[in-house]
Amino acid sequence: MTLLSLSSVSAFYGPSQALHDVSLDLDEGQVLALMGRNGMGKTTTVKVICRMLRHRAGSVMFAGRDLGPLPPHRAARAGIGLVPEGRRCFGPLTVRENLIAAARPGAWDLRSVGDLFPRLAERPQQIAASLSGGEQQMLVIGRALMTNPRLLILDEATEGLAPVIRQEIWSAIARLKRDSGLAILVIDKSLAELAHVADRAVILDRGSTVWSGTFGALTPALTDRYLGV
Ligand code: ATP
Repeated sequence: MTLLSLSSVSAFYGPSQALHDVSLDLDEGQVLALMGRNGMGKTTTVKVICRMLRHRAGSVMFAGRDLGPLPPHRAARAGIGLVPEGRRCFGPLTVRENLIAAARPGAWDLRSVGDLFPRLAERPQQIAASLSGGEQQMLVIGRALMTNPRLLILDEATEGLAPVIRQEIWSAIARLKRDSGLAILVIDKSLAELAHVADRAVILDRGSTVWSGTFGALTPALTDRYLGV
């Protein structure tokens, strides 16, 4: 069943149009890679889904509901968990406090997040600002899971992290896909890692959807043309 559906979405920053014609569909339990070079509209698409930016035309449907009129805090309540670009945890709070602050009822709780990220389970009382960059990113993912979303959005979640930590995060994403049935929208530069988890891909170019299909159908010609790899 389709969980998220964007149809011919356009969006602006003031007078400047950032999204022209973005369409994508994500089914329950699927992992969708949202791809494109820098500045092509990936984060803007995420902002529209999370209602941080209002679209001007087209439609955004989530779980059968039109998200158009919804303010941002309602998007979280509707079941969308966001791990935004750049690690943003509450620095002065402890690991535990960060997680509890976001909690909503459901299968994800301190124990299941701790199972997914043992590094967090080992240091519940540590002040978030004193965690390593990778641990902070795990905390932000854990916090998004604590909202018990139906859709998890990961915007460059492995960017700038040490290889060993990146690997832990990719393993966690694979485990989420395998065990949780969560739909995941992932933005990341690593094609090799995406290939392990993504079912489908959408490519954005200058604010428009230029390709969508199964991840396995991506050809070198496409990645060369639109991703510069
Ligand atoms: P990146 O990988 O660099 O984050 P992206 O694909 O996520 O790229 P967006 O951040 O969505 O791209 O940017 C799409 C376009 O919108 C770019 O031209 C960018 O300069 C512009 N843009 C992004 N944020 C703003 C803003 N707050 N105000 C004005 N223009 C913006």
